[in-house]
Amino acid sequence: MIRVGLGTDLHRLVEGRKLMLGGIEIPFEKGEHGHSDGDALLHAITDALLGAAGISDIGELFPPSDAKWKDADSKKLLASAYELVKGQGWSIENIDCVIKLEKPKFLPYRQAVRESIAGILGIDVSQIFVKAKTGEKLGDVGTSQSIETEAVCLLSKD
Ligand code: MG
Repeated sequence: MIRVGLGTDLHRLVEGRKLMLGGIEIPFEKGEHGHSDGDALLHAITDALLGAAGISDIGELFPPSDAKWKDADSKKLLASAYELVKGQGWSIENIDCVIKLEKPKFLPYRQAVRESIAGILGIDVSQIFVKAKTGEKLGDVGTSQSIETEAVCLLSKD
């Protein structure tokens, strides 16, 4: 049996916050505003996994209204979501992601980000891919006001 899942996320980019992507801090003058550490890539992946298994979503499991999740490490949120997914017998075939970000260039960090995500989930680096697109200087992405992410995953079980 196979299941596909989709997750997206959007965060404002503000000064005084770290830019976290896939559990890696990327040097930049702005970072994601958010209740947790704001890792928009891990949030999209978390929602894709939970959605594919039909379990829940990140907002329901880790509500921003709960002080418990303030500045939460998104690596831990993703890992605990995947524990729920695995608990229902699912395992990851692959995950593919898009980051919409004007600056900085993502390519130099891609391999580190893939390795970080693979490590969190206990999968092979070949099972996770991430690419970035700019906003062509248009709209909120193009003026570095926001970052948007998308992730699809394929789960399987016997
Ligand atoms: Mg988020």
